[in-house]
Amino acid sequence: MSKKETSVVWFKRDLRLTDHLPLKKAIALGKPVILIYCFDPKLIEDPHYDRRHWRFVWESLEDMSQELQRHGQQLIVFHAGMPDVLPFLKNAWNVTHLFSHEETGLKITYDTDLWVKQYCKEEGILWDESPYNGIQRRLSHRKNWVKNWHAFMYEPVHDVDLSHLKTTSIDPSRLTGHLPIPEAFQMSNAHFQRGGREMALKYMHSFLNGRVKDYSRFISKPLESRRSCSRLSPYLAWGNLSLREVYQARLRAKASVGYKQPSATFAARLQWHDHFVQKFESEERYEFENINKGYNTLDRGLNEMYLEAWEKGETRVPLVDACMRCLKSTGYINFRMRAMLVSFLTHHLWQDWKQGAIHLATHFLDFEPGIHYTQFQMQAGTTGLNTLRIYNPIKQSKEHDPKGLFIKQWVPELAAVPEQYIHEPWLMPPLEAQILGLQVKDLLPIVDVTKAAEQARKKLWAHKKHPEVRSEGQRILKKHVIPRSF
Ligand SMILES: Cc1cc2nc3c(=O)[nH]c(=O)nc-3n(C[C@H](O)[C@H](O)[C@H](O)COP(=O)(O)OP(=O)(O)OC[C@H]3O[C@@H](n4cnc5c(N)ncnc54)[C@H](O)[C@@H]3O)c2cc1C
Repeated sequence: MSKKETSVVWFKRDLRLTDHLPLKKAIALGKPVILIYCFDPKLIEDPHYDRRHWRFVWESLEDMSQELQRHGQQLIVFHAGMPDVLPFLKNAWNVTHLFSHEETGLKITYDTDLWVKQYCKEEGILWDESPYNGIQRRLSHRKNWVKNWHAFMYEPVHDVDLSHLKTTSIDPSRLTGHLPIPEAFQMSNAHFQRGGREMALKYMHSFLNGRVKDYSRFISKPLESRRSCSRLSPYLAWGNLSLREVYQARLRAKASVGYKQPSATFAARLQWHDHFVQKFESEERYEFENINKGYNTLDRGLNEMYLEAWEKGETRVPLVDACMRCLKSTGYINFRMRAMLVSFLTHHLWQDWKQGAIHLATHFLDFEPGIHYTQFQMQAGTTGLNTLRIYNPIKQSKEHDPKGLFIKQWVPELAAVPEQYIHEPWLMPPLEAQILGLQVKDLLPIVDVTKAAEQARKKLWAHKKHPEVRSEGQRILKKHVIPRSF
């Protein structure tokens, strides 16, 4: 008996059923569709990822499944990788088409894509990949990038008519080697943003219709930004919302609610999202190497003790420690504090950015490879182009957490320290410290913040003049920087 023709829609970091071109195309094809998500054990073991990510994915899948069930349809969730799943499906059906979005991901997912490409070729399956957000493949420069990006953002979203969807079902446990979905992924945790479309829409509407008014004012404040920033990053990173949906919702809200200036600042950030992912798409070396090869000769060494203190939030620089501890417990800190953490690691502690990139990725609920690696290198100063920023964590603390409320929340051992010393508790008179049960010598940071910054500045400025840094800078400029007139 001949096997029944079907198509497959492969969900990756696009966990939604709206503005989803691959799904729309599969429905239009008119064949039964198998909707799949793969918890790939290889990816789960990858050090960039943590249980927090997979919980978010699980919550997103639950949301999608509920929506599909309302239409009598089904999503199949595998705990196996595509190299097992695709042959399994092919064995049961005559799979003619595979639909998915293009993914700008880590090398590990790129390798899976290469495998899928080869398998589809050998088995005569047509793999139809749709562009994702405003990312453009195979670009050698950015000349028309902004124009194309805007054109994409203004195009109508792809409405998906689920009433025409006819899914086919299969028991995933029939796949040899299929593993149960770990319980840890299925247990909600109120300290983290919950995944899924429903929650994503709540965050988006509450921001665009109200929270946005304080967006610019508090954007750099570690405490206030938790409410005044959109907090849409995990929903964009895992695709519960498309960037275009947010962009268009912003335009509608701006027209009805107002808040023109903060809304414009927010719109710029949405473009940054794709601007940074585009860099990674065009040069995936960002994951492994200094993007400006001229920095390969600048030795930043490895100091295990410094690294451990940074990772654990035990540098004894109050704001640095508060940020790291908050991030670990909640999966989020704002942009300025992320930049400061990287600056402190790479400049004050003089450690190679590669030592810290995975640690932060694991803890950011919104980990997005394309933004993460390009931002990390920019803050570490290995592009040779951007203004060198060595954030002074004490100045940041005084400006953005003046009363030390954020510090006291996350570094409880400093809770009793008076406001005037909270940014530099080691300056407390010894007797005052003793009364609080503290010893000044135990409060000293692991490095002298001022001296360490001075040393880093000297080395970095001297190195910026290196001929290879300059020639590489020109190369990067041509490839990744948007010309001013566009
Ligand atoms: C070292 C470092 C690593 C980072 N890693 C990530 C990451 O893995 N994933 C991630 O989504 N963002 C990353 N960012 C960018 C930024 O910090 C976060 O996007 C932002 O803090 C998320 O909060 P929000 O959603 O409230 O942002 P909002 O300020 O409300 O901005 C709205 C959206 O715009 C995008 N955006 C905002 N700021 C930036 C930016 N500076 N660069 C690129 N896109 C931006 C995000 O998608 C964000 O959700 C990183 C920044 C640094 C310095």
